[in-house]
Amino acid sequence: MSDRVRDAPVTLKIILIGNSGVGKSSFMNRYVYHRFTNMYRATIGSDLLSKTVHVDGKTVTLQIWDTAGTERFQSLGTPLYRGAHCCMLVFDVTSKASFSALDAWRKEFLIQGEPRDPTDFPFIVLGNKTDSSDREVSRGKALQWCEEINAEYFEGSAKEDLGVEKPFTRAARCGLQQYKKHTLENTGHFQITCKQPRETRNTCEC
Ligand code: GDP
Repeated sequence: MSDRVRDAPVTLKIILIGNSGVGKSSFMNRYVYHRFTNMYRATIGSDLLSKTVHVDGKTVTLQIWDTAGTERFQSLGTPLYRGAHCCMLVFDVTSKASFSALDAWRKEFLIQGEPRDPTDFPFIVLGNKTDSSDREVSRGKALQWCEEINAEYFEGSAKEDLGVEKPFTRAARCGLQQYKKHTLENTGHFQITCKQPRETRNTCEC
């Protein structure tokens, strides 16, 4: 692999999915802009935020995608999910239903997003609203499911700015591994196929 390929700027697509109202928009806005409001849809309405971070000695730009209210129209998932490097499954710890729904969200992502290696695709499960007193989903229960699906678990509160940084740092790290495995793998293959004509014919038309 050439240094030029290895040092190319890296953009990682991180996607947040889960039921409407669990706090996806709030969580990503807290992470990127360090702020919280009860009225994101009305004030910002953004479905994509970017943040540049340093991971394992590399500078990467995270493109963080939220479904921005399209949860009701699941067919819109296809273009949104494709090319993701990491998927965050978000639920609200005060809502059992939002936790139960994650299994369907994960399956939907695997079908629509068509990740190259579904058995190895990184999922991060995120329980939001831990500041609320009426909790319905325990940490133990969430961890148990994460073990079943081989995902990592984080929880926190966008409102109180608790545990917001860690899941994104982890997503960046997992995403970078995916990127190296698939994107750079492809570039490497391209170079190998070019090598033959260059050696034999002294010219390369690619
Ligand atoms: P989305 O539909 O999943 O993007 O959810 P939003 O980010 O729009 O949030 C839905 C509602 O939950 C809003 O009223 C937010 O103010 C509220 N909310 C988001 N995060 C938290 C949190 O950490 N704690 C509490 N108590 N409420 C939150």
